[in-house]
Amino acid sequence: MPSVDHSELKEFDLRSVRLDELTWPEIREAAGRDVPVIVPVGSTEQHGYHLPLCTDVVLPESLGREAARMLGLLVAPPIAYGYRSRPLSGGGEGFPGTISLSGRTLIALVEDVLAALAQSGFRRLVVLNWHFENSNFVYEAAWCANERLAAQGLRIMVVEAAFSELSEPVMQTLFGDEFPGWDVEHAAVLETSLMQHLRPDLVLIDRAVDDEARRHPPYDVVPPPAEFIPESGTLWKATRASAEKGAIAWEEIVSRVAAAISAEFELVSPGAPFQPRAASPAGEAVAAR
Ligand SMILES: [Zn+2]
Repeated sequence: MPSVDHSELKEFDLRSVRLDELTWPEIREAAGRDVPVIVPVGSTEQHGYHLPLCTDVVLPESLGREAARMLGLLVAPPIAYGYRSRPLSGGGEGFPGTISLSGRTLIALVEDVLAALAQSGFRRLVVLNWHFENSNFVYEAAWCANERLAAQGLRIMVVEAAFSELSEPVMQTLFGDEFPGWDVEHAAVLETSLMQHLRPDLVLIDRAVDDEARRHPPYDVVPPPAEFIPESGTLWKATRASAEKGAIAWEEIVSRVAAAISAEFELVSPGAPFQPRAASPAGEAVAAR
């Protein structure tokens, strides 16, 4: 693998952090400079009475763009379909509009995207997943892509969950003393708050409800029993959401993900304070500079 001087990475003038808004000569130059590329992975899945089907796409794509703007990276077009919605973590497959892939299709899709980026010359890739059920499948895709292109010096960071833990103050702000577990944080407090912060135009907040499955055992059952599935598709308390909570949680999630990418690819010296580049409105497609 050729050695590249990463210290100049942030000075590289990317017109846009969106890979698909650039031309192929610009992509060739970015790949030549070893710019890391983030691949957001989500789902097209029901999110209760009040959130759009694209919730799990908006969130990792916005997260990827924020991190990319801070660090001078690129974001590939998101993968908008995910693995089967499971009743205990997504409400299940029975809701109109949910469009899911089988595990083997998802693995093949993500693997092909990673391999194509590698064929374009990119060596440092980040799979940034939001949809809970995609975990493991995205890891498998990264594994297979690397195996396929073993001679090319790939390094793929697999972020299966962007927020496995948040700081105590943020958890208090979001949940008080009543944290139900991340598996039921589907169309509930965090996702609703984040969407109110990022895309209030897509949130029908007056339709938000508190709901939960009548039974939530620590195992799954196929075919899904009706009592595993809340009628609304919201798995916990969406009425506790607010844009203010979303803003607080978002800031922490963005800075943690950006810091993790930065550390993994040594984009800043280890231990150095993390300095965001020019701040820009969340959730909008704006140029890198
Ligand atoms: Zn979601």
